[in-house]
Amino acid sequence: MNNAHKAIQLCSCNGTVEIDIRRLGDALALDAADLPVLHAATQLCGRDAAAFSAALGGAADAIVGCTQEAALLREVADEAGATAGLTFINLRDIGGRSPRGSDATPSVAAQLAMARMAEPAPVPAVSYASSGQLLIIGPAGAALGWAQEAQRRYGDSIAVSVLVTGRDGSELPVRRDWPVMTGRDVTVSGWLGAFDVSWARANAIDLDACVRCNACIDACPEGAIGYDYQVDAARCTGHRACVKACADIGAIDFAAVGSPRSERYDLVLDLSEPALIRIPHPPQGYAAPGRDPL
Ligand code: SF4
Ligand code: SF4
Repeated sequence: MNNAHKAIQLCSCNGTVEIDIRRLGDALALDAADLPVLHAATQLCGRDAAAFSAALGGAADAIVGCTQEAALLREVADEAGATAGLTFINLRDIGGRSPRGSDATPSVAAQLAMARMAEPAPVPAVSYASSGQLLIIGPAGAALGWAQEAQRRYGDSIAVSVLVTGRDGSELPVRRDWPVMTGRDVTVSGWLGAFDVSWARANAIDLDACVRCNACIDACPEGAIGYDYQVDAARCTGHRACVKACADIGAIDFAAVGSPRSERYDLVLDLSEPALIRIPHPPQGYAAPGRDPL
């Protein structure tokens, strides 16, 4: 686009806007060769429409100093077969209907200068693809509550997994509607459709394998296992009666505590406080509402 020769069609709106062509030309640094691109009419939408139409014919682009009649002026341009790309500026509000009169010329010139600037290069397009794999990270009660709510709201369009990061006295439901894991030292990186989440296993009981039979709870003489199916390390004395009780299922493995794991998810709902990603503009597909309701 050659902005130096972009036509500028101004209109005094029946004499109510003061247009100073010479000062505008100076302000826009138009030299003698460029000055003809600047036209001032009194009624672009009326008696000057034919001249407007003719002027547009050869223009690659044009700036039109009227917004209230933009629709009509577009029609005039279309009928003239003008291929011009029209940019409308509100000359009447900038330069007229104000007590400033010709004092408004710098404002008009500034608007024209902005309109004459080249269009910025388009930013590169970014594509996201999500199949609805949602990971909810947080203390058991909150995370499981939101898992239920997310499933209720979005049904089969999402697949929920829960990463429990702390004990809050909540019991795990007997029904296993979603994969539930325990983790600490959680990290999240990525974006919508491609979040890489890694953590260290926090619990000897593999909640995904556990069938909630409660045999370990009954077997533990220290009462170290609760109905959240997590082992309280402070109470556990390590004699492994629970492991024996779970032998057929094989869901308890003390040696696995701390083992690293990582998975990829499309979406992350992070209930951690503080949030795991703390930047001004977190990635699409990541929400960290803290204590705020969603
Ligand atoms: S015995 Fe094993 S399967 Fe049963 S509740 Fe305990 S960990 Fe789960
Ligand atoms: S090792 Fe012993 S104390 Fe620890 S959870 Fe198992 S049964 Fe309870």
